[in-house]
Amino acid sequence: MAVNFKSISIMNGYAFLRVCAVLGIIFSFTQSSYAQIHLDRVSKAERSDGLGYVVRFHFDQPIDSFQVIQPASDLIQMQLFGNNIDTTGIQLPELGGKIQEVRLYKLEDSFGVDIYLDQNVYVMATAYPDKASDDLLLAMTKSTAYEVEVYTQQFLAKNWYLNINPDNALDITMIPATEPDEDYNEIADKLKFDTIIIDAGHGGKDPGNIGYRHTKEKDVVLAISKKLGEYIEEYLPDVNVIYTREDDTFIDLYDRGSIANRHEGDLFVSIHANGFHDPSVRGTEVFFLGLHRSESSLEIMKKENMIFNDGKREVRELTEEELLIYELAHSGYISTSERIASMMDHQFSKRANRKSRGVKQAGFVVLYEASMPALLVEVGFLTNPSEQRFLSSEYGQSIMASAIFRSIRDYKEEYERSQEITSSN
Ligand SMILES: [Zn+2]
Repeated sequence: MAVNFKSISIMNGYAFLRVCAVLGIIFSFTQSSYAQIHLDRVSKAERSDGLGYVVRFHFDQPIDSFQVIQPASDLIQMQLFGNNIDTTGIQLPELGGKIQEVRLYKLEDSFGVDIYLDQNVYVMATAYPDKASDDLLLAMTKSTAYEVEVYTQQFLAKNWYLNINPDNALDITMIPATEPDEDYNEIADKLKFDTIIIDAGHGGKDPGNIGYRHTKEKDVVLAISKKLGEYIEEYLPDVNVIYTREDDTFIDLYDRGSIANRHEGDLFVSIHANGFHDPSVRGTEVFFLGLHRSESSLEIMKKENMIFNDGKREVRELTEEELLIYELAHSGYISTSERIASMMDHQFSKRANRKSRGVKQAGFVVLYEASMPALLVEVGFLTNPSEQRFLSSEYGQSIMASAIFRSIRDYKEEYERSQEITSSN
């Protein structure tokens, strides 16, 4: 049980165990190794007082413990601990509504739960055992967008199958979220995650950032983009790779979007390298489109949103209104982008050993123009001598391309597994 019990409150009506994390481990071995706990239903409802929503986990016995985090305004994650939690025949709530989806992931000694909310819902979540039954209740209390924003900052989203052992990722079963859809096969092709648009930033008359030893962003990102495409073609042969550019040509931001849209991409990945006046600044950043842009993103946006018009350079800025409308219309793109972005960030920091500057939202025109989940990656700072050396080397370019590749592959697997299980049950 490689679990951090410090962050878990021990439930089960045995409140005295709450005091001691070590006892929590003993407790879970002695109390529940033999009895099978059955989770037969998860239901959702609006609170009768109108102040929020409730998700109820219908257990026939109390579980050992649980944990709740809320890494984003529209994502609540829980981990339910108890040996032998059985979910045969489980009924899950229908998709859609304020609580859009409840997904369960069977982990080694627990269940991971993702609860996706509508983008316009602002709630704060807490969980507690129902006094009248063995059920576990997740209460979501309405709050302001600002409060939720501040509250969610403290949590890092869990990626359930990376969370255990990446080598065992295939052992994870996801429980079907809905009844089988009879029309599934007809739409199955459209649901496949099978076209990826790789966008090497800049090119031609637009060199992008100029770094240490006059390294040009356009050259570094083209090399990484091509390697990424090669990895996808080799290891994900069912995926169609489309490049917005494959050589040193200039393509404007709008044309990049229309290439992506014409090919009906499932994901748009724009690859860039950063620059800054202070050579000590380094690290990777992954951006997806959105309103909640940080001050530090402004500088990068100015560089990446440059429009070249008849020899003149100007910055095209997306207005708050444009971004707001985008967020309302494309919440699905945003949540997918955010999820892949966090997987990518994980790969950069944990597998590729880069300094991570995090996952951020910003108003990039190139992402706005592509009507699909879309990310902009800054692979590092060419103005930092050590990152310049790394990113200019064949070795460094392979490391970055394979980190991007792995996160795309992992997301594709997760996505298709959810589609498969939905269709075959
Ligand atoms: Zn760039």
